Amino acid sequence: MENCIFCKIIAGEIPSAKVYEDETCVAFNDISPQAPTHLLIIPREHFDSLDKAENGHKETLGHLLYVAAQIARDKGFAEDGYRVVINTNRNGGQTVYHLHVHLLGGRPFIFPPG
Ligand code: AMP
Ligand code: ZN
Repeated sequence: MENCIFCKIIAGEIPSAKVYEDETCVAFNDISPQAPTHLLIIPREHFDSLDKAENGHKETLGHLLYVAAQIARDKGFAEDGYRVVINTNRNGGQTVYHLHVHLLGGRPFIFPPG
C-alpha cells in the first residue's frame, strides 16, 4: 500500500526496532512508548483497520493476539499483566491506518482508558 508508514516499515524503507517477525506479522517498538514496554504487532498484509476485517482475516487476527501473548511471556511481564489495544477509526483514536495491535506492559493500567 503506497504511502503507508507501516508497509514501509515492513519493506525496510523506514527503520524500526523489530522485536519479532514471522511470515504473517512483524512486531517493533512504538516510537512514542506509553509504558516500559510498548510495541506494535502488525500484519504483513495491509488492511486499514479492524473495521475492515473480513472473513479471510480471521486467521491473521487470531495470530496477532497469539503473538502478543507469546511476546508478553518472553519478555517476562505476562504474569503481572499487560494491555492489548486495537484503536479503531476516528473515535477509537486510530492515527495510522494499517491495522496494528498495541502491546503495553511493565506498569499497571487503569480502565476505562480515556
Ligand atoms: P494508533 O494511534 O493506534 O493508530 O497508533 C499508532 C502508533 O504508531 C502510535 O502509538 C505511534 O507512536 C506509532 N508510530 C507512528 N510512527 C511510528 C514509527 N515510525 N515507528 C514506530 N511507531 C510508530
Ligand atoms: Zn500498510
